[in-house]
Amino acid sequence: MEKPFYSLREAARLAGVPEENLRRSVLLGEIVATPVADDRQYLVAASELSRYRGKKSTSSTPEPRERFFCLAAFAIVAILSVGPLFICLWIGSFQEVDYFCGNCTRTLHTTRLRQTVLITHRIEAGPFSRLVQRVYPAPCRHEWISFREGGNRWRRLMTMEKEGVLSVIPESDGVGRVEFIRGVLRRTAP
Ligand SMILES: [Zn+2]
Repeated sequence: MEKPFYSLREAARLAGVPEENLRRSVLLGEIVATPVADDRQYLVAASELSRYRGKKSTSSTPEPRERFFCLAAFAIVAILSVGPLFICLWIGSFQEVDYFCGNCTRTLHTTRLRQTVLITHRIEAGPFSRLVQRVYPAPCRHEWISFREGGNRWRRLMTMEKEGVLSVIPESDGVGRVEFIRGVLRRTAP
């Protein structure tokens, strides 16, 4: 007849596993056992041993719960290692593109996704936009030229302004000045 409780040694013999393994299972809470006066000893309920009978190598087959935690841990590690890469790619797909207007010298600052989808844009007054506005009060039909394409022309105009080239054209000749500026920006100037 089966006893209700077994010492660790008896339980190990009955279960066919090393005593130390059984002790570890008790410590890990995998099987329920009652501690006795000697703190290395336990009384293992007979019912707890039933799981060992007929399947002595249970530990090699993960239970669904263990499998779930393994998969979850794997997923977290995968996300942590690949996540930053995706974030970098995502940020890298945003691009700032700046333009100037070949008519009024206003500047346009855009943020684009993958160079095509416009996310934000901001128009700012240009160095000669007031002059152009005064000479041609009608709203400008902007002719946007990217700095990447026409940056040299823009810089040339700024240099000319600094060196006083514009002042050669009399201030009274507003149209002359504006057309000169437009000529430089649109590369139609000699
Ligand atoms: Zn314009």
